[in-house]
Amino acid sequence: MNSQSPSLPRLAIVVPCYNESEVFSYCLTELGGYLGRMIGDGMISPASYLLFVDDGSRDDTWRQISAATKNHAHVRGLKLSCNKGHQAALLTGLANADAIVSIDADLQDDINAIGEMVKSYVAGHDVVYGVRASRQTDTAFKRMTAEVFYRLMTMMGVKQVFNHADFRLLSSRARDALLEYHERNIYIRGLVPLVGFPSAEVYYDRRERTAGVSKYPLHKMMALALEGITSMTVMPLRIITLTGFIISAVAILAIVVVLINKMIGNPIQGWASVIVALFFMGGVQMLCLGIIGEYLGKIYLETKRRPRSHIEEKEGFGSP
Ligand code: UDP
Ligand code: MG
Repeated sequence: MNSQSPSLPRLAIVVPCYNESEVFSYCLTELGGYLGRMIGDGMISPASYLLFVDDGSRDDTWRQISAATKNHAHVRGLKLSCNKGHQAALLTGLANADAIVSIDADLQDDINAIGEMVKSYVAGHDVVYGVRASRQTDTAFKRMTAEVFYRLMTMMGVKQVFNHADFRLLSSRARDALLEYHERNIYIRGLVPLVGFPSAEVYYDRRERTAGVSKYPLHKMMALALEGITSMTVMPLRIITLTGFIISAVAILAIVVVLINKMIGNPIQGWASVIVALFFMGGVQMLCLGIIGEYLGKIYLETKRRPRSHIEEKEGFGSP
């Protein structure tokens, strides 16, 4: 059981925004309305609020956030100094509240699940994962790559909740625990299960993006996947060792065969097979060096212990 006070929980809904000027007003209206209804229903404290984190947008997202903080008592805004990525924006926004829900600005995730999350939190869960019951609105490509990635991560021993992205509720102690992970190479959905504490899942149907385009193009998705693997497991390095071991064993066997052939006087044919093997091995070695380099690069970046983000402006923090 978590250690919340018997009074109503103060909820913060954190929304990272990167060039979201097209969806911002919709998002504000929907989330603001929902927050108001939860307060009205006596589910959460009237001191609950929305926190928009502008992740260095180049459009007028921050101007809109800033205006919203002036017009609405329950809205706060943080502006990061430049684009640091969704994960860094989320961590920076892990607000000071009893419970924190993170949700994407495009509201593809069903906001009605937030009420369920809060109920689950009140029932004693520190982490409530929003899980997509269906992914009909995602492209077949996105569904397939997500499934392959999940299976790959499971094979490498990384615990993750299937079909869960970054729509979740964290209690304040789960938030504090998460912030104790000081790494710069961040993959929040891999870290949260490591935190432990009682957890639950809430299911919802994922919708289409209301407006604007995805801020996760293929290269960002691949970067996140790579971040996920290299931050959570060293299994690829072990696979390299194992592959190297197997190839060496085969090579020793091949040498013995070649020597025996030479001794019994059989002419060695097959220039093509030698060249193919050579190129193949060259490729495997480059790939292995690349993987090792990837981890080395991560170590290099981690040792610098650079800050994850810088807050340039804060708005609305004077409000209740
Ligand atoms: N986002 C961000 N920084 C980035 C990229 C995305 O803060 O560098 C935010 C974005 O504004 C949105 C959320 O992350 O609130 C998820 O992005 P999006 O909905 O475009 O991803 P998708 O649903 O296509 O995976
Ligand atoms: Mg989206």
